[in-house]
Amino acid sequence: MNIVVCIKQVPGTTEIKIDPETNTLVREGVESIINPFDTYALEEGVRLKERCGGKVTAITMGPPQAENALRETISLGADEAILISDRVFAGSDTWATSYVLSRALAKIADYDVIICGKQTLDGDTGQVGSGLSEMLGVPFVAYVSKIDEIKEGYIRVHRMVEEGYEVLEMALPAVITVVKEINVPRLPSLRGSMKAKTAQIPVWTAADIGVEEDKAGIAGSPTRVVKIFFPKREHKSEMFQGTPEDQVGQLVKRLEGII
Ligand SMILES: Cc1cc2nc3c(=O)[nH]c(=O)nc-3n(C[C@H](O)[C@H](O)[C@H](O)COP(=O)(O)OP(=O)(O)OC[C@H]3O[C@@H](n4cnc5c(N)ncnc54)[C@H](O)[C@@H]3O)c2cc1C
Repeated sequence: MNIVVCIKQVPGTTEIKIDPETNTLVREGVESIINPFDTYALEEGVRLKERCGGKVTAITMGPPQAENALRETISLGADEAILISDRVFAGSDTWATSYVLSRALAKIADYDVIICGKQTLDGDTGQVGSGLSEMLGVPFVAYVSKIDEIKEGYIRVHRMVEEGYEVLEMALPAVITVVKEINVPRLPSLRGSMKAKTAQIPVWTAADIGVEEDKAGIAGSPTRVVKIFFPKREHKSEMFQGTPEDQVGQLVKRLEGII
């Protein structure tokens, strides 16, 4: 079973700064972490390998420092990792990111299941998984909370919905995104940490994966950030007086006035 896990390196701090000129996040010099939902995606990939055999390849599209996040994936059980990095990719929105990742997967070619996290901490759109499946022309299920059965060419999953879950089956290869209820990520093993230190992590450029430059980066991004700002937090509180019944009565009136 060839399992590919897509991870994103994201700012690991709430002290986010915005570049007033480009209206994008300042990422240089900011402590970075593996996107939390992607640690569940990676864990599920490693568990699938333990269940069915095969290998786990972790990939990320990111700046050179994203290599650190990939080394961490090897300490957590990934067999191989690939950094997809090129200045051409800078400023990519979700559409351009999905395109670049789809070109990298076309180069990997032999994959059975592609696992993404539900969403990232920074872009937070949850769009890349579906965008990737669209560009690869393979089936897609989001919010997977359990992989019920998986075998050559077939997978049956539980998709988390508000009322519980749905059971869906599809042909492989396919893309899934996972929720945090799917597993409990393991800690790095000593053996894994040793392996991570010396692992060879290839860097694939735009030319290596046949990316058309006008489809990547700002050039390939239909999204334009018009304005980024921190919403003003207003704390308005009101104390109701009288007996509990009075207070409930006042609250209901208040809510009726608002609704
Ligand atoms: C105009 C503009 C400029 C931007 N400039 C930058 C920039 O310079 N640098 C930057 O990092 N971001 C930048 N972003 C944010 C970037 O577009 C998104 O973070 C990225 O496209 C992924 O979208 P998302 O965060 O909503 O991911 P989601 O769709 O929420 O992610 C879902 C899952 O997709 C996978 N995934 C997402 N991104 C990647 C990735 N890069 N590699 C591998 N797997 C991934 C992960 O498994 C993740 O859990 C920019 C966005 C805009 C609109």
